[in-house]
Amino acid sequence: MNTERIHEMLDRNAASRPEAAAIVDTDGRVVSWATYAALSHEMAEHMQAAGLAATDRVLIVAENCLAAAAAIFGASRIGAIAVPVNARMTSPELDRISAHADPALVLYTSHVSPEAAAHAAAARAASHPTGAGALHAMARGGSAEPGAEDVAVLLYTTGTTGDPKGVMLTHANLGFAARASAELRAMTPADRIYGALPITHVFGLASMLMAGAHAGTAIELAARFRPAALHDALRAGITVLPAVPQMHALLMAHAAEHGHARLEDAALRYVSSGAAPLDPAWKRKAEAFYGLPLQNGYGMTESTAGSSGTRNPIGSPDTSVGPPLPGVEVAIDDSLGAEPGTGEVLTRGPHVMKGYFRNPDATAAALRDGWLHTGDLGRIDAEGRLHIVGRAKELIIRGGFNVYPPEVEAALNDHPQVVQSAVIGRPRAGSEDILAFVQCAAPAPDPEELRSFASARLSAYKRPTHILVVDTLPAAPSGKVLKHKLLAHFADRLD
Ligand code: ATP
Ligand code: MG
Repeated sequence: MNTERIHEMLDRNAASRPEAAAIVDTDGRVVSWATYAALSHEMAEHMQAAGLAATDRVLIVAENCLAAAAAIFGASRIGAIAVPVNARMTSPELDRISAHADPALVLYTSHVSPEAAAHAAAARAASHPTGAGALHAMARGGSAEPGAEDVAVLLYTTGTTGDPKGVMLTHANLGFAARASAELRAMTPADRIYGALPITHVFGLASMLMAGAHAGTAIELAARFRPAALHDALRAGITVLPAVPQMHALLMAHAAEHGHARLEDAALRYVSSGAAPLDPAWKRKAEAFYGLPLQNGYGMTESTAGSSGTRNPIGSPDTSVGPPLPGVEVAIDDSLGAEPGTGEVLTRGPHVMKGYFRNPDATAAALRDGWLHTGDLGRIDAEGRLHIVGRAKELIIRGGFNVYPPEVEAALNDHPQVVQSAVIGRPRAGSEDILAFVQCAAPAPDPEELRSFASARLSAYKRPTHILVVDTLPAAPSGKVLKHKLLAHFADRLD
Protein backbone atom coordinates (compact mmCIF):
# COMPACT_ATOMS: atom_id res chain seq x y z
CA MET A 1 0.00 0.00 0.00
CA ASN A 2 1.11 3.53 -0.70
CA THR A 3 2.03 5.27 2.56
CA GLU A 4 3.72 8.33 1.08
CA ARG A 5 2.24 11.74 1.82
CA ILE A 6 2.20 14.09 -1.17
CA HIS A 7 4.92 16.45 0.17
CA GLU A 8 7.25 13.46 0.46
CA MET A 9 7.32 13.30 -3.34
CA LEU A 10 8.89 16.77 -3.33
CA ASP A 11 11.31 15.75 -0.58
CA ARG A 12 12.34 12.67 -2.54
CA ASN A 13 13.31 14.81 -5.54
CA ALA A 14 14.89 17.51 -3.38
CA ALA A 15 17.15 14.82 -1.90
CA SER A 16 18.04 12.99 -5.10
CA ARG A 17 18.21 15.81 -7.67
CA PRO A 18 18.18 19.07 -5.69
CA GLU A 19 19.41 21.31 -8.49
CA ALA A 20 17.40 19.81 -11.35
CA ALA A 21 14.49 21.80 -12.76
CA ALA A 22 11.16 21.13 -11.09
CA ILE A 23 8.99 23.99 -12.29
CA VAL A 24 9.26 26.58 -14.99
CA ASP A 25 7.09 29.29 -13.46
CA THR A 26 4.74 31.45 -15.50
CA ASP A 27 7.35 34.24 -15.63
CA GLY A 28 9.89 31.86 -17.14
CA ARG A 29 11.86 31.42 -13.91
CA VAL A 30 13.31 27.91 -13.59
CA VAL A 31 12.91 26.56 -10.06
CA SER A 32 14.81 23.57 -8.68
CA TRP A 33 13.40 20.73 -6.59
CA ALA A 34 15.34 22.05 -3.58
CA THR A 35 13.76 25.50 -3.94
CA TYR A 36 10.30 24.04 -4.58
CA ALA A 37 10.53 21.90 -1.43
CA ALA A 38 11.88 24.81 0.61
CA LEU A 39 9.07 27.01 -0.61
CA SER A 40 6.49 24.44 0.45
CA HIS A 41 8.11 24.50 3.93
CA GLU A 42 7.75 28.28 4.00
CA MET A 43 4.12 27.94 3.01
CA ALA A 44 3.57 25.44 5.82
CA GLU A 45 5.15 27.81 8.34
CA HIS A 46 3.11 30.68 7.00
CA MET A 47 -0.09 28.65 7.32
CA GLN A 48 0.80 27.58 10.83
CA ALA A 49 1.58 31.15 11.82
CA ALA A 50 -1.84 32.12 10.50
CA GLY A 51 -3.39 29.62 12.91
CA LEU A 52 -4.13 26.78 10.50
CA ALA A 53 -4.38 23.38 12.18
CA ALA A 54 -4.60 19.80 10.94
CA THR A 55 -7.77 19.02 8.92
CA ASP A 56 -8.49 22.75 8.58
CA ARG A 57 -9.14 23.77 5.01
CA VAL A 58 -7.00 26.34 3.23
CA LEU A 59 -8.68 27.80 0.17
CA ILE A 60 -6.09 28.52 -2.52
CA VAL A 61 -7.56 30.84 -5.13
CA ALA A 62 -5.12 30.71 -8.00
CA GLU A 63 -4.23 30.23 -11.58
CA ASN A 64 -1.34 27.85 -12.25
CA CYS A 65 1.82 29.21 -10.63
CA LEU A 66 4.64 28.05 -8.39
CA ALA A 67 3.14 29.68 -5.28
CA ALA A 68 -0.13 27.78 -5.63
CA ALA A 69 1.65 24.47 -6.23
CA ALA A 70 3.93 25.03 -3.22
CA ALA A 71 0.89 25.93 -1.08
CA ILE A 72 -0.76 22.59 -1.89
CA PHE A 73 2.35 20.70 -0.74
CA GLY A 74 2.79 23.11 2.19
CA ALA A 75 -0.69 22.33 3.51
CA SER A 76 0.20 18.66 3.38
CA ARG A 77 3.19 19.18 5.68
CA ILE A 78 0.93 20.30 8.54
CA GLY A 79 -1.95 17.95 7.84
CA ALA A 80 -4.17 20.74 6.55
CA ILE A 81 -6.46 20.24 3.56
CA ALA A 82 -5.73 22.24 0.42
CA VAL A 83 -8.76 23.45 -1.54
CA PRO A 84 -7.41 24.72 -4.86
CA VAL A 85 -10.00 26.76 -6.76
CA ASN A 86 -9.60 28.59 -10.01
CA ALA A 87 -9.17 32.35 -9.79
CA ARG A 88 -11.19 32.72 -12.96
CA MET A 89 -14.38 31.70 -11.21
CA THR A 90 -16.89 34.44 -10.62
CA SER A 91 -17.33 35.91 -7.18
CA PRO A 92 -20.65 34.09 -6.53
CA GLU A 93 -19.05 30.80 -7.60
CA LEU A 94 -16.12 31.39 -5.25
CA ASP A 95 -18.51 32.34 -2.47
CA ARG A 96 -20.48 29.11 -2.87
CA ILE A 97 -17.37 26.95 -2.74
CA SER A 98 -15.92 28.95 0.12
CA ALA A 99 -19.14 28.63 2.13
CA HIS A 100 -19.12 24.87 1.63
CA ALA A 101 -15.40 24.24 2.20
CA ASP A 102 -15.49 26.46 5.32
CA PRO A 103 -11.80 27.38 5.17
CA ALA A 104 -9.81 28.64 8.14
CA LEU A 105 -7.45 30.44 5.78
CA VAL A 106 -7.81 31.85 2.28
CA LEU A 107 -4.81 32.42 0.02
CA TYR A 108 -4.99 34.42 -3.17
CA THR A 109 -2.11 34.42 -5.58
CA SER A 110 -1.24 37.91 -6.67
CA HIS A 111 -2.11 37.50 -10.34
CA VAL A 112 -5.79 36.78 -10.14
CA SER A 113 -8.77 37.72 -12.21
CA PRO A 114 -10.67 40.93 -11.44
CA GLU A 115 -13.47 38.74 -10.02
CA ALA A 116 -11.16 37.00 -7.57
CA ALA A 117 -9.45 40.27 -6.69
CA ALA A 118 -12.83 41.76 -5.83
CA HIS A 119 -13.60 38.68 -3.80
CA ALA A 120 -10.28 39.03 -1.97
CA ALA A 121 -11.06 42.65 -1.20
CA ALA A 122 -14.51 41.74 0.07
CA ALA A 123 -12.95 39.08 2.28
CA ARG A 124 -10.55 41.74 3.65
CA ALA A 125 -7.50 39.81 2.57
CA ALA A 126 -4.30 40.88 4.25
CA SER A 127 -0.95 40.74 2.55
CA HIS A 128 1.55 38.16 3.77
CA PRO A 129 4.71 38.37 1.71
CA THR A 130 6.44 35.01 1.47
CA GLY A 131 9.25 33.53 -0.54
CA ALA A 132 6.62 32.74 -3.10
CA GLY A 133 6.26 36.36 -4.00
CA ALA A 134 3.19 38.25 -2.95
CA LEU A 135 0.45 36.09 -1.54
CA HIS A 136 -2.55 37.62 0.12
CA ALA A 137 -3.98 35.79 3.05
CA MET A 138 -7.11 36.15 5.11
CA ALA A 139 -6.90 34.19 8.37
CA ARG A 140 -10.03 33.37 10.33
CA GLY A 141 -8.52 31.67 13.07
CA GLY A 142 -1.20 22.92 16.34
CA SER A 143 -0.40 20.87 13.29
CA ALA A 144 -0.10 17.10 12.95
CA GLU A 145 1.65 14.73 10.58
CA PRO A 146 -1.04 13.40 8.27
CA GLY A 147 -1.41 9.70 7.47
CA ALA A 148 -1.68 8.42 3.90
CA GLU A 149 -5.40 7.78 4.35
CA ASP A 150 -6.03 11.34 5.52
CA VAL A 151 -7.51 13.90 3.16
CA ALA A 152 -4.86 15.97 1.38
CA VAL A 153 -6.99 17.93 -1.06
CA LEU A 154 -10.63 18.91 -1.26
CA LEU A 155 -11.32 19.32 -4.96
CA TYR A 156 -14.51 20.58 -6.55
CA THR A 157 -15.93 18.87 -9.62
CA THR A 158 -16.27 20.82 -12.86
CA GLY A 159 -19.97 21.46 -12.46
CA THR A 160 -20.88 20.16 -15.92
CA THR A 161 -24.18 18.71 -14.77
CA GLY A 162 -24.98 20.95 -11.78
CA ASP A 163 -23.27 22.69 -8.89
CA PRO A 164 -19.67 21.55 -8.25
CA LYS A 165 -19.35 18.85 -5.57
CA GLY A 166 -16.48 18.79 -3.03
CA VAL A 167 -14.45 15.59 -3.42
CA MET A 168 -12.13 14.44 -0.61
CA LEU A 169 -8.91 13.01 -2.04
CA THR A 170 -6.40 11.36 0.27
CA HIS A 171 -2.63 11.31 0.10
CA ALA A 172 -2.91 7.68 -0.98
CA ASN A 173 -5.39 8.59 -3.75
CA LEU A 174 -3.10 11.28 -5.15
CA GLY A 175 0.06 9.21 -4.76
CA PHE A 176 -1.54 6.31 -6.61
CA ALA A 177 -2.84 8.54 -9.41
CA ALA A 178 0.54 10.27 -9.71
CA ARG A 179 2.36 6.98 -10.14
CA ALA A 180 -0.28 5.53 -12.47
CA SER A 181 -0.14 8.45 -14.90
CA ALA A 182 3.65 8.79 -14.71
CA GLU A 183 4.03 5.09 -15.50
CA LEU A 184 1.42 5.13 -18.28
CA ARG A 185 3.50 7.82 -19.99
CA ALA A 186 6.87 6.41 -18.91
CA MET A 187 7.78 9.85 -17.53
CA THR A 188 11.35 10.46 -16.33
CA PRO A 189 13.40 13.46 -15.15
CA ALA A 190 14.51 13.84 -18.77
CA ASP A 191 10.98 14.80 -19.81
CA ARG A 192 9.34 18.18 -19.73
CA ILE A 193 5.58 18.33 -19.28
CA TYR A 194 3.38 21.21 -20.40
CA GLY A 195 1.29 22.60 -17.57
CA ALA A 196 -1.74 24.44 -18.91
CA LEU A 197 -4.32 22.14 -17.36
CA PRO A 198 -5.44 23.99 -14.25
CA ILE A 199 -4.10 22.47 -11.04
CA THR A 200 -7.50 23.34 -9.62
CA HIS A 201 -9.00 20.52 -11.72
CA VAL A 202 -8.28 16.86 -11.08
CA PHE A 203 -6.65 16.23 -14.44
CA GLY A 204 -4.09 19.00 -13.89
CA LEU A 205 -3.66 18.28 -10.19
CA ALA A 206 -3.23 14.50 -10.35
CA SER A 207 -1.93 13.68 -13.81
CA MET A 208 0.22 16.76 -14.23
CA LEU A 209 1.33 18.33 -10.93
CA MET A 210 1.43 15.10 -8.89
CA ALA A 211 2.69 12.93 -11.77
CA GLY A 212 5.55 15.38 -12.30
CA ALA A 213 6.42 15.27 -8.59
CA HIS A 214 6.28 11.48 -8.62
CA ALA A 215 8.55 11.09 -11.64
CA GLY A 216 10.84 14.06 -11.02
CA THR A 217 9.70 15.63 -14.30
CA ALA A 218 9.84 19.40 -14.72
CA ILE A 219 6.52 21.12 -15.45
CA GLU A 220 6.28 24.25 -17.54
CA LEU A 221 3.36 26.04 -15.92
CA ALA A 222 0.95 28.19 -17.91
CA ALA A 223 -1.45 30.43 -15.99
CA ARG A 224 -4.08 29.87 -18.62
CA PHE A 225 -4.31 28.09 -21.91
CA ARG A 226 -3.15 30.06 -24.95
CA PRO A 227 -2.77 28.15 -28.20
CA ALA A 228 0.09 30.38 -29.38
CA ALA A 229 2.07 29.86 -26.16
CA LEU A 230 1.56 26.10 -26.36
CA HIS A 231 2.64 26.07 -30.00
CA ASP A 232 5.85 27.91 -29.04
CA ALA A 233 6.51 25.66 -26.04
CA LEU A 234 6.11 22.58 -28.20
CA ARG A 235 8.92 23.84 -30.39
CA ALA A 236 11.07 24.56 -27.34
CA GLY A 237 11.42 21.17 -25.71
CA ILE A 238 8.09 19.94 -24.30
CA THR A 239 8.02 16.13 -24.43
CA VAL A 240 4.72 15.29 -22.70
CA LEU A 241 1.44 17.05 -23.38
CA PRO A 242 -1.70 16.17 -21.45
CA ALA A 243 -4.71 18.25 -22.51
CA VAL A 244 -8.47 18.27 -22.78
CA PRO A 245 -9.89 17.76 -26.30
CA GLN A 246 -10.79 21.44 -26.60
CA MET A 247 -7.12 22.39 -26.18
CA HIS A 248 -6.05 20.12 -29.03
CA ALA A 249 -8.81 21.57 -31.21
CA LEU A 250 -7.84 25.17 -30.42
CA LEU A 251 -4.12 24.49 -30.91
CA MET A 252 -4.75 22.94 -34.32
CA ALA A 253 -7.04 25.82 -35.33
CA HIS A 254 -4.31 28.28 -34.31
CA ALA A 255 -1.56 26.38 -36.13
CA ALA A 256 -3.68 26.10 -39.29
CA GLU A 257 -4.35 29.84 -39.20
CA HIS A 258 -0.58 30.37 -39.20
CA GLY A 259 0.03 27.95 -42.03
CA HIS A 260 1.17 24.95 -39.98
CA ALA A 261 -0.66 21.80 -40.98
CA ARG A 262 1.72 19.75 -38.86
CA LEU A 263 3.77 20.23 -35.75
CA GLU A 264 7.42 20.54 -36.69
CA ASP A 265 10.70 20.95 -34.77
CA ALA A 266 9.22 19.41 -31.63
CA ALA A 267 10.63 16.96 -29.08
CA LEU A 268 7.10 15.85 -28.18
CA ARG A 269 6.85 12.10 -27.59
CA TYR A 270 3.58 11.63 -25.68
CA VAL A 271 0.29 13.40 -26.15
CA SER A 272 -2.97 12.58 -24.46
CA SER A 273 -6.54 13.71 -24.17
CA GLY A 274 -8.82 13.33 -21.19
CA ALA A 275 -11.59 14.75 -19.04
CA ALA A 276 -14.15 14.92 -21.86
CA PRO A 277 -15.21 12.82 -24.85
CA LEU A 278 -12.67 12.62 -27.66
CA ASP A 279 -14.40 12.14 -30.93
CA PRO A 280 -12.83 10.07 -33.68
CA ALA A 281 -12.56 12.95 -36.16
CA TRP A 282 -10.57 15.04 -33.70
CA LYS A 283 -8.37 12.08 -32.85
CA ARG A 284 -7.54 11.58 -36.55
CA LYS A 285 -6.86 15.27 -37.11
CA ALA A 286 -4.73 15.53 -33.98
CA GLU A 287 -2.64 12.48 -34.84
CA ALA A 288 -1.95 13.91 -38.29
CA PHE A 289 -0.97 17.21 -36.68
CA TYR A 290 1.30 15.82 -33.95
CA GLY A 291 2.63 12.86 -35.93
CA LEU A 292 2.03 10.83 -32.75
CA PRO A 293 -0.74 8.66 -31.35
CA LEU A 294 -3.29 10.61 -29.29
CA GLN A 295 -3.99 8.56 -26.17
CA ASN A 296 -7.38 8.87 -24.50
CA GLY A 297 -7.71 8.70 -20.72
CA TYR A 298 -10.91 8.46 -18.73
CA GLY A 299 -11.51 9.53 -15.18
CA MET A 300 -13.29 11.95 -12.93
CA THR A 301 -12.63 14.02 -9.84
CA GLU A 302 -14.07 11.22 -7.70
CA SER A 303 -11.55 8.74 -9.14
CA THR A 304 -8.54 11.07 -8.78
CA ALA A 305 -8.45 11.51 -12.56
CA GLY A 306 -7.40 8.22 -14.08
CA SER A 307 -9.43 5.03 -14.30
CA SER A 308 -8.33 3.90 -17.74
CA GLY A 309 -6.14 4.94 -20.64
CA THR A 310 -5.25 3.75 -24.14
CA ARG A 311 -1.80 2.64 -25.29
CA ASN A 312 -2.38 2.67 -29.03
CA PRO A 313 -0.12 3.10 -32.03
CA ILE A 314 -0.75 6.05 -34.35
CA GLY A 315 -3.74 5.68 -36.65
CA SER A 316 -5.48 3.12 -34.46
CA PRO A 317 -9.23 3.02 -35.10
CA ASP A 318 -9.78 2.38 -31.37
CA THR A 319 -12.46 4.71 -29.98
CA SER A 320 -12.32 3.34 -26.43
CA VAL A 321 -10.86 5.00 -23.35
CA GLY A 322 -8.60 1.98 -22.94
CA PRO A 323 -8.30 -0.81 -20.40
CA PRO A 324 -8.33 -0.05 -16.66
CA LEU A 325 -5.04 1.25 -15.27
CA PRO A 326 -3.01 -1.35 -13.35
CA GLY A 327 -4.55 -1.79 -9.89
CA VAL A 328 -7.91 -0.37 -11.01
CA GLU A 329 -11.07 -2.38 -11.60
CA VAL A 330 -13.86 -1.32 -13.93
CA ALA A 331 -17.26 -2.99 -14.29
CA ILE A 332 -20.60 -2.27 -15.92
CA ASP A 333 -23.88 -2.27 -14.00
CA ASP A 334 -26.34 -3.10 -16.76
CA SER A 335 -29.29 -3.56 -14.41
CA LEU A 336 -30.84 -0.41 -15.83
CA GLY A 337 -30.25 -1.90 -19.26
CA ALA A 338 -30.24 0.93 -21.77
CA GLU A 339 -28.96 -1.56 -24.36
CA PRO A 340 -27.56 -5.06 -23.78
CA GLY A 341 -24.05 -4.84 -22.32
CA THR A 342 -24.30 -1.08 -21.81
CA GLY A 343 -24.86 0.39 -18.38
CA GLU A 344 -23.40 2.53 -15.64
CA VAL A 345 -19.62 2.43 -15.34
CA LEU A 346 -18.41 1.36 -11.89
CA THR A 347 -14.84 1.51 -10.69
CA ARG A 348 -13.01 0.22 -7.63
CA GLY A 349 -9.46 0.65 -6.38
CA PRO A 350 -6.97 2.95 -4.65
CA HIS A 351 -8.02 5.85 -6.90
CA VAL A 352 -11.54 6.12 -5.47
CA MET A 353 -12.23 9.17 -3.30
CA LYS A 354 -12.88 9.06 0.42
CA GLY A 355 -16.27 10.69 -0.16
CA TYR A 356 -17.95 14.03 -0.76
CA PHE A 357 -17.17 16.65 1.88
CA ARG A 358 -20.07 17.25 4.27
CA ASN A 359 -22.47 15.38 2.03
CA PRO A 360 -23.14 11.88 3.41
CA ASP A 361 -26.19 11.35 1.18
CA ALA A 362 -24.28 12.00 -2.04
CA THR A 363 -21.41 9.86 -0.73
CA ALA A 364 -23.75 6.95 0.06
CA ALA A 365 -25.27 7.23 -3.41
CA ALA A 366 -21.87 7.28 -5.18
CA LEU A 367 -19.98 4.72 -3.07
CA ARG A 368 -21.89 1.46 -2.80
CA ASP A 369 -20.43 -1.95 -1.89
CA GLY A 370 -16.93 -0.64 -2.43
CA TRP A 371 -17.67 0.58 -5.97
CA LEU A 372 -17.76 4.15 -7.24
CA HIS A 373 -20.87 4.70 -9.36
CA THR A 374 -19.65 7.12 -11.99
CA GLY A 375 -22.92 8.25 -13.57
CA ASP A 376 -21.31 7.55 -16.95
CA LEU A 377 -22.71 5.00 -19.39
CA GLY A 378 -20.41 2.59 -21.12
CA ARG A 379 -19.55 -0.93 -22.12
CA ILE A 380 -16.50 -3.17 -22.01
CA ASP A 381 -15.43 -4.84 -25.27
CA ALA A 382 -13.99 -8.30 -25.85
CA GLU A 383 -10.44 -6.94 -25.42
CA GLY A 384 -11.33 -5.52 -21.99
CA ARG A 385 -11.34 -1.91 -23.17
CA LEU A 386 -13.86 0.53 -21.75
CA HIS A 387 -16.06 2.55 -24.09
CA ILE A 388 -17.86 5.62 -22.73
CA VAL A 389 -21.08 6.38 -24.58
CA GLY A 390 -22.22 9.36 -22.54
CA ARG A 391 -23.46 10.45 -19.16
CA ALA A 392 -26.60 8.92 -17.68
CA LYS A 393 -27.83 12.44 -16.84
CA GLU A 394 -27.35 13.65 -20.40
CA LEU A 395 -28.91 10.70 -22.21
CA ILE A 396 -31.56 12.03 -24.58
CA ILE A 397 -34.65 9.92 -25.12
CA ARG A 398 -36.20 10.89 -28.40
CA GLY A 399 -39.38 9.14 -29.45
CA GLY A 400 -38.39 6.16 -27.27
CA PHE A 401 -34.88 5.88 -28.74
CA ASN A 402 -31.66 6.59 -26.85
CA VAL A 403 -29.48 9.36 -28.24
CA TYR A 404 -26.00 9.85 -26.79
CA PRO A 405 -24.84 13.47 -27.15
CA PRO A 406 -21.17 12.57 -27.84
CA GLU A 407 -22.22 10.70 -31.00
CA VAL A 408 -24.12 13.72 -32.33
CA GLU A 409 -21.25 16.05 -31.34
CA ALA A 410 -18.78 13.79 -33.15
CA ALA A 411 -20.85 14.00 -36.35
CA LEU A 412 -20.87 17.80 -36.18
CA ASN A 413 -17.18 18.07 -35.22
CA ASP A 414 -16.34 16.17 -38.38
CA HIS A 415 -17.16 19.34 -40.37
CA PRO A 416 -13.94 21.18 -41.23
CA GLN A 417 -15.23 24.55 -39.96
CA VAL A 418 -16.49 23.22 -36.62
CA VAL A 419 -14.20 23.89 -33.63
CA GLN A 420 -16.38 22.19 -31.04
CA SER A 421 -20.01 21.44 -30.31
CA ALA A 422 -22.25 20.65 -27.38
CA VAL A 423 -25.50 18.72 -27.63
CA ILE A 424 -28.24 18.54 -25.01
CA GLY A 425 -31.83 17.37 -24.80
CA ARG A 426 -34.81 19.58 -24.01
CA PRO A 427 -38.06 17.88 -22.97
CA ARG A 428 -41.04 18.54 -25.21
CA ALA A 429 -44.39 16.79 -25.39
CA GLY A 430 -43.31 13.41 -24.03
CA SER A 431 -40.15 13.35 -26.15
CA GLU A 432 -37.00 15.45 -26.27
CA ASP A 433 -35.66 17.97 -28.74
CA ILE A 434 -31.99 17.66 -29.62
CA LEU A 435 -30.25 21.02 -29.32
CA ALA A 436 -26.81 21.45 -30.87
CA PHE A 437 -24.64 24.47 -30.01
CA VAL A 438 -21.84 24.66 -32.52
CA GLN A 439 -18.71 26.81 -32.29
CA CYS A 440 -17.25 27.40 -35.74
CA ALA A 441 -14.13 28.90 -37.23
CA ALA A 442 -14.57 31.73 -39.73
CA PRO A 443 -16.16 31.62 -42.22
CA ALA A 444 -18.91 29.94 -40.20
CA PRO A 445 -21.13 27.59 -42.20
CA ASP A 446 -24.83 28.35 -41.97
CA PRO A 447 -27.00 26.10 -39.83
CA GLU A 448 -28.68 24.56 -42.89
CA GLU A 449 -25.33 23.36 -44.20
CA LEU A 450 -24.51 21.87 -40.79
CA ARG A 451 -27.92 20.25 -40.69
CA SER A 452 -27.44 18.43 -43.97
CA PHE A 453 -23.86 17.57 -43.01
CA ALA A 454 -25.07 15.96 -39.77
CA SER A 455 -28.03 14.30 -41.47
CA ALA A 456 -25.71 12.45 -43.81
CA ARG A 457 -23.98 10.94 -40.77
CA LEU A 458 -26.80 10.30 -38.31
CA SER A 459 -29.97 8.23 -38.40
CA ALA A 460 -33.13 10.31 -38.36
CA TYR A 461 -33.86 10.08 -34.62
CA LYS A 462 -30.34 11.27 -33.73
CA ARG A 463 -30.41 14.40 -35.88
CA PRO A 464 -30.40 17.75 -34.06
CA THR A 465 -33.79 19.44 -34.05
CA HIS A 466 -32.12 22.82 -33.42
CA ILE A 467 -28.68 23.96 -34.54
CA LEU A 468 -27.23 27.20 -33.16
CA VAL A 469 -23.96 28.53 -34.52
CA VAL A 470 -22.25 30.36 -31.65
CA ASP A 471 -18.98 32.26 -31.07
CA THR A 472 -18.02 30.54 -27.83
CA LEU A 473 -19.49 27.99 -25.47
CA PRO A 474 -19.70 28.53 -21.70
CA ALA A 475 -16.71 26.64 -20.36
CA ALA A 476 -14.97 25.79 -17.11
CA PRO A 477 -11.39 27.02 -16.58
CA SER A 478 -10.21 23.57 -17.71
CA GLY A 479 -11.86 24.15 -21.09
CA LYS A 480 -14.71 21.71 -20.49
CA VAL A 481 -18.09 22.89 -21.76
CA LEU A 482 -20.58 23.60 -18.96
CA LYS A 483 -23.62 21.93 -20.45
CA HIS A 484 -26.07 22.84 -17.72
CA LYS A 485 -25.48 26.51 -18.50
CA LEU A 486 -26.25 26.26 -22.23
CA LEU A 487 -30.01 26.83 -22.08
CA ALA A 488 -29.78 29.92 -19.89
CA HIS A 489 -26.71 31.25 -21.73
CA PHE A 490 -28.41 31.16 -25.14
CA ALA A 491 -31.99 31.69 -23.90
CA ASP A 492 -32.50 34.72 -26.16
CA ARG A 493 -31.67 32.66 -29.24
CA LEU A 494 -33.93 29.73 -28.44
CA ASP A 495 -37.67 29.61 -29.07
P1 ATP B 1 -19.96 17.50 -12.38
O1 ATP B 1 -19.70 16.17 -11.73
O2 ATP B 1 -19.80 18.62 -11.42
O3 ATP B 1 -21.23 17.56 -13.16
P2 ATP B 1 -17.91 16.74 -14.25
O4 ATP B 1 -18.45 15.35 -14.09
O5 ATP B 1 -17.71 17.23 -15.64
O6 ATP B 1 -18.81 17.78 -13.46
P3 ATP B 1 -15.18 16.12 -13.73
O7 ATP B 1 -14.90 15.28 -12.55
O8 ATP B 1 -14.23 17.18 -14.12
O9 ATP B 1 -16.54 16.86 -13.47
O10 ATP B 1 -15.37 15.23 -15.02
C1 ATP B 1 -15.54 13.84 -15.03
C2 ATP B 1 -16.44 13.42 -16.16
O11 ATP B 1 -15.88 13.78 -17.43
C3 ATP B 1 -16.65 11.93 -16.24
O12 ATP B 1 -17.66 11.49 -15.34
C4 ATP B 1 -17.05 11.75 -17.71
O13 ATP B 1 -18.43 12.04 -17.91
C5 ATP B 1 -16.24 12.81 -18.41
N1 ATP B 1 -15.00 12.23 -19.00
C6 ATP B 1 -13.77 12.23 -18.47
N2 ATP B 1 -12.87 11.67 -19.31
C7 ATP B 1 -13.57 11.28 -20.39
C8 ATP B 1 -13.21 10.62 -21.61
N3 ATP B 1 -11.96 10.27 -21.91
N4 ATP B 1 -14.21 10.35 -22.49
C9 ATP B 1 -15.49 10.70 -22.22
N5 ATP B 1 -15.89 11.34 -21.10
C10 ATP B 1 -14.94 11.63 -20.19
MG1 MG C 1 -19.13 14.37 -12.38
